[in-house]
Amino acid sequence: MMRSTADVVIVGGGCMGTSTAYHLARRGLTDVVLVEREPQLGSASTGRNAGGVRHQFTEPANVRLSIESIAAIERFRDELGGELDFHRDGYMFLLSTQASVEAFRAAVAMQRTLGVNVDVLAPSDACRLAPGLEVAGVLAATFCPDDGIADPGGLTQGYARSAREAGIEIVRGVEVTGIDVAGDRVAGVQTTDGRIETRAVINAAGPWARSIGRLAGVEVPVDPLRRHIFIAQPTDGRTWDTPPHAGRVPLSRIMVIDFETSFYFHREGARLLFGMGEANESFGFDTSVKWEFLPDVIDVAVTRLPALLDAEVSHAWAGLYEMTPDAMPVIGPTDLEGFFVIAGFSGHGFQHSPAAGRILADVVAGRDPGLDLSPFEHARFRRAVRAAERGVV
Ligand SMILES: Cc1cc2nc3c(=O)[nH]c(=O)nc-3n(C[C@H](O)[C@H](O)[C@H](O)COP(=O)(O)OP(=O)(O)OC[C@H]3O[C@@H](n4cnc5c(N)ncnc54)[C@H](O)[C@@H]3O)c2cc1C
Repeated sequence: MMRSTADVVIVGGGCMGTSTAYHLARRGLTDVVLVEREPQLGSASTGRNAGGVRHQFTEPANVRLSIESIAAIERFRDELGGELDFHRDGYMFLLSTQASVEAFRAAVAMQRTLGVNVDVLAPSDACRLAPGLEVAGVLAATFCPDDGIADPGGLTQGYARSAREAGIEIVRGVEVTGIDVAGDRVAGVQTTDGRIETRAVINAAGPWARSIGRLAGVEVPVDPLRRHIFIAQPTDGRTWDTPPHAGRVPLSRIMVIDFETSFYFHREGARLLFGMGEANESFGFDTSVKWEFLPDVIDVAVTRLPALLDAEVSHAWAGLYEMTPDAMPVIGPTDLEGFFVIAGFSGHGFQHSPAAGRILADVVAGRDPGLDLSPFEHARFRRAVRAAERGVV
């Protein structure tokens, strides 16, 4: 039987909810229930992402989240005992317009002032780092060797295990259906398994953050946007590192992003993982694979990685980005006393979940989070916000 009272209730068991639970426990807050409606944790956006972890953002606040989070991912095994399969082979952005080159040059300068090891490269250097790459029309690239790929499932399970061991209750297969408000503050949470009396609710519902906000009468402007991932292997049954394919794709797990088209790829074990944003996709919760989109992706993909001409797609999936109007997340309190949000990471939340969970846990515990929260505050949406982060892929 689930607890009927708790100091804090977390709605959502993806990387954000579990990271927050773990960090609350580290601050001594363990009278906490995390409620996840699916039978498994991390099966929504967290279970469908590409695992990319990078310092290369255009907003300093996001770079700060990356610096803290990537350090936490590095320490994860020692601190929590979980394996994240972290490969640090770098992230490379290919830039084909003068406007992008200028924007990324400015971003690289800003990232370097924050201590990030990142450079602007010539196209020939890009080919050296990523064998098989075709750079026609590319004017420049940026590269950070400290970026990489890690395992979102391992992170979510590791945080959940440690939170549970500290006494936090994690329930699965239970849906939050209502949030009780008494006067001007949160008073409880209604679920399909009964009510929990509480004075603090954390909305960690990812693409569903808007509907959880509405249960409390708080507008949380997060919209779901479908994104696809495809997995490819050579058609002849061989692997990418044997003849005739060897040298036609990178052997490392470097992440390459063609910024103008948003086509990206990296090695995924013996295969290649790739994806691309669909320009005309509109907001919605549909996560079925739109196979008719694949030829559009392939048209772009083979111009950058010709090896894909001899590849077949073995499988694909789609998941939801959780977009805000300025592509910046919401981390912190709202106008409703006791109602907190950690959502809206706009397609790059996995890599920011360690820092975001730590920050929100500090806020909920009444501690100073030690950084400027204004880029993340919910109250910014009272004003007209402009697109801020440009590094959305
Ligand atoms: C195709 C794709 C590629 C991506 N690639 C990357 C990448 O390379 N790097 C990166 O950092 N990020 C990437 N992302 C983004 C990243 O996956 C998300 O930002 C992150 O997973 C968000 O985590 P979350 O915990 O907020 O959301 P989720 O993982 O969606 O968790 C929210 C949870 O809330 C639960 N929930 C909702 N409503 C209720 C309710 N009423 N009651 C109880 N539970 C509820 C849901 O079931 C869900 O499990 C990618 C996303 C996609 C779709």
